[in-house]
Amino acid sequence: MLSATAKAHRAEPDELKNRVILITGAGDGIGRAAALACASHGATVVLLGRTQSKLEVLYDEITAAGGPEPAICVLDLARSDGPGYFKLAEQIADTWGRLDGLLHNAGMLGQRAPIEHYDIGIWHQVMHLNLNVPFILTQVLMPVLRKSLDASVLFTSSGVGRQGRAYWGAYAASKFGVEGLTQTLADELQTEGTIRVNCLNPGSARTHMRAAAYPGEDPASRPEPATLMGPYLWLLGPASKGTTGKSLDCQ
Ligand code: NDP
Repeated sequence: MLSATAKAHRAEPDELKNRVILITGAGDGIGRAAALACASHGATVVLLGRTQSKLEVLYDEITAAGGPEPAICVLDLARSDGPGYFKLAEQIADTWGRLDGLLHNAGMLGQRAPIEHYDIGIWHQVMHLNLNVPFILTQVLMPVLRKSLDASVLFTSSGVGRQGRAYWGAYAASKFGVEGLTQTLADELQTEGTIRVNCLNPGSARTHMRAAAYPGEDPASRPEPATLMGPYLWLLGPASKGTTGKSLDCQ
């Protein structure tokens, strides 16, 4: 029901005006599309990624289209330690004084292998980037999220985060964790009422991750990420105020 509302949403041109939104993994795929969509509806986006050149191209694209000037944050979330996170939180506090949206989008697929043979090192990497990093980032950014009158934290799930599937190993387990983290945090913040926490499954999208997961598939058979942005705008913008603790689908 809520997914249908989110899918049907057509954002007004200035719907996200005056909102500051941080997007992880903004340089490519779904994160890139989300950054462009949010900026085109008036948001100031903080573009976080590990490849500076991709973020610079995106910055140019947003400004050339007349969007609010974005900020670039080059951070390898797989390697970052405490100071990297705290510096980011400090920069957001010093520049805007608040954070209105946080899209946890960066992720990795890891290995496609049976649990019995799954590489333990890769398991740790996937769990760290897909689950531990969203936890750490949310915790560190909580003070600036609390400064917003209407903050939205949005985690990224997957179909295999709700129903396990053979050979999806750490990726599936990490997305189940993301669903649990969403529910737990949403419940903790429910009474405060100013920070909503939800989780979105984009479904299959034409990205590098999808191509790596399904090498035999024709990429053209999958939708472009840009076509899936309605639910992202709904959840990150003011239209979904009051919605929290939910797990939604883009498709
Ligand atoms: P892509 O692999 O296409 O893009 C991922 C982005 O995350 C890239 O910009 C990448 O940076 C960035 N990233 C990866 N590792 C790090 C890191 N250590 N530090 C900072 N940034 C990093 O993935 P998708 O766009 O396909 O996926 C986005 C999200 O959607 C993921 O959470 C995924 O699990 C989820 N999802 C995707 C589906 C799909 O069909 N595509 C289906 C269901 C869920 P760089 O550009 O430098 O590589």
